[in-house]
Amino acid sequence: MAEKCLEETMHDPRGYVAVIEGGIPTAVTGTAGEAGAHGKVSGHTMLDTTVKVVKGAQATIAYGTCATYGGVQAAAPNPTKAKGVTDVVPGAPVVNVPGCPPNPFNLVGTIVHYLTKGIPELDDIGRPWAFFGESVHENCPRQDHFDYGEFAESFGSEEARKGWCLRKLGCRGPETYNNCPTVKFNQINWPVEAGHPCIGCSQPNFWDGEDWGGISYMYADLTEW
Ligand code: SF4
Repeated sequence: MAEKCLEETMHDPRGYVAVIEGGIPTAVTGTAGEAGAHGKVSGHTMLDTTVKVVKGAQATIAYGTCATYGGVQAAAPNPTKAKGVTDVVPGAPVVNVPGCPPNPFNLVGTIVHYLTKGIPELDDIGRPWAFFGESVHENCPRQDHFDYGEFAESFGSEEARKGWCLRKLGCRGPETYNNCPTVKFNQINWPVEAGHPCIGCSQPNFWDGEDWGGISYMYADLTEW
């Protein structure tokens, strides 16, 4: 039933917008040496289906950090050679809406923008400026404490509960662009307000990212901070 729905949508003369979730395995594997064989649906590799669907779409929204930049399964050693949509179908009109998890507000906002005004203005890694134009740090309620050099030294400490900055606990808010502090999740709360540092989940290569301190480095040696 799902395959039939997909085929009918792809042949609809009005065209369609694709929304893709998940990293796409691209490794060549098996005795047949098939590309993308780690991920199959109904006998088709996700790789083949992604290429086919994206090439036929008027526009594609890659939703979540796995679909945008490969995500956690693309972390070293990335045995399935998972990639994001723009790496699998280069040149296609793709809007990246990253996050782990991504915020549904940003997905709905992107769809509404596309339906009313077309593809939104994007930053240099394909994210809509309207949602990803400011860093997490810029709008963080703990920012005054950052400016005054007031940093919590441990999780659950009195300082952490009082709202002091979580930078020394590994917060990546200054390097991460997303609207978590203003939109929140379910418009209720978000990690830093709940006491956990931002892990930079809407940035490419956020897991490994030695160049900018991805989370496997963030927790490796906190004494360096
Ligand atoms: S908790 Fe993170 S985002 Fe908030 S002020 Fe400190 S470094 Fe910036």
